[in-house]
Amino acid sequence: MLKAYGADVKLQDAMGSPRDRYDITTNKMPLNPQRAIAELKELHALTSDENGAQRVAWTDTWIKARDWFRTKWQDLPVEQHYDAAGNNYITLKGESEKALLLGSHLDSVPNGGWLDGSLGMLAGLEILRRFTEEYNGRPPITIRLVDWADEEGARFGRSLLGSSAFAGTHSIAADRVRTDRDGARLEDALRRCGVEIDRFPEAERERQNAAAYLELHIEQGPVLERLHLPLAVVLGTKGVERHAVTFHGQEAHSGSTPMNVRRDALAAAAKLALEIRPIAKKYSDAVSTMGSLKTFPGIVTAVVGRCETTLDQRDLDASVLAAMNQEARDASLRFAQEEGCTVEWSRIWSIEPVPFHPTLVQFCQKAIEETAGTSHSLPSGPLHDAAEVSRAGIPSVMMFVQSLGGISHNKIEDTREEHLAFAITALDKLATKTAQWIV
Ligand SMILES: [Zn+2]
Repeated sequence: MLKAYGADVKLQDAMGSPRDRYDITTNKMPLNPQRAIAELKELHALTSDENGAQRVAWTDTWIKARDWFRTKWQDLPVEQHYDAAGNNYITLKGESEKALLLGSHLDSVPNGGWLDGSLGMLAGLEILRRFTEEYNGRPPITIRLVDWADEEGARFGRSLLGSSAFAGTHSIAADRVRTDRDGARLEDALRRCGVEIDRFPEAERERQNAAAYLELHIEQGPVLERLHLPLAVVLGTKGVERHAVTFHGQEAHSGSTPMNVRRDALAAAAKLALEIRPIAKKYSDAVSTMGSLKTFPGIVTAVVGRCETTLDQRDLDASVLAAMNQEARDASLRFAQEEGCTVEWSRIWSIEPVPFHPTLVQFCQKAIEETAGTSHSLPSGPLHDAAEVSRAGIPSVMMFVQSLGGISHNKIEDTREEHLAFAITALDKLATKTAQWIV
């Protein structure tokens, strides 16, 4: 039997009041980025194999990572509990109940890297330690560190599972019957970890008193490295329009059908695949991807009668996203007509852009300038838990640190150690500014 997530396991029940067992004279813990980096390496050694990190949510290795994390805050005067969705909260109570939330995720994709998610957790812990020392275990406001459950959605295909429960934006009624590659159901995998899906809405209680949310993450892209900058403030997460676009033509024999009478569905799709690029390039941060293309009948001797493609478009500005989508639709109709085909669109999924809080964006910019001299701002293409927290109406912001080669979700994912140290220091400055703002 694994640990009972969802049950109100409170450390203080077993160990007395957290403050009673805390002694500031013996627990010196100023901010120490090098300690966080060493702990990141320790976690990686414990939970990776020759192919990379294996901390996939709801697996034994993930539980092992969480058990290891538990050993890291035993000396702090904090309270810990799991909420009804398996999110892990570590709370340093302050004079005020108003809380600053610092968060990230310990789970990884299969064969993942050593920094995605875990950097935010270990940096957050370092800041918890610093607040503990500076305020003798009782800061002016409450500081909470949260490890979101199943950010990656690697096993069941549902990302941001824990943070969507917090935000009340979850789709658990539809998600509960999802299965993994071996046919195991999401519902059963969660129950094995003590999480009952019917109690998911109770996770929204954690929003009480949450005044701001900060998240540090690796960039997972090449922009900062190309600019030779260590850090950036994230302006928000891009909205996504994801569609299936299918062209219908006429299957015909490849030998007997003259070129001028063909209704080639692939030809129309191929034109669209190229056209989405100049459409996206008109807007500075927009991206557009045709990630999948299937032809039918898909044999060497037949003109393609049906071509199924997928389109994924993203931008931080909702009006840009809408315009880009309309331009792609218009182009697809035009190409279908040129090739004697028809085209049909159906939405797979979409999410609106989530801009972060302007005051926190400013604080983050300042914190980066004070730490690294120059700041940069950019939107995030990938989604993050911070988007869910922000959608719940809690002022939020993220900070990115450079990724070497822009590579992530891979064992070669890496960031220079001096940049990691910058990131932890800048996040600490941001936390200080935010805490003063909350008071
Ligand atoms: Zn991540």
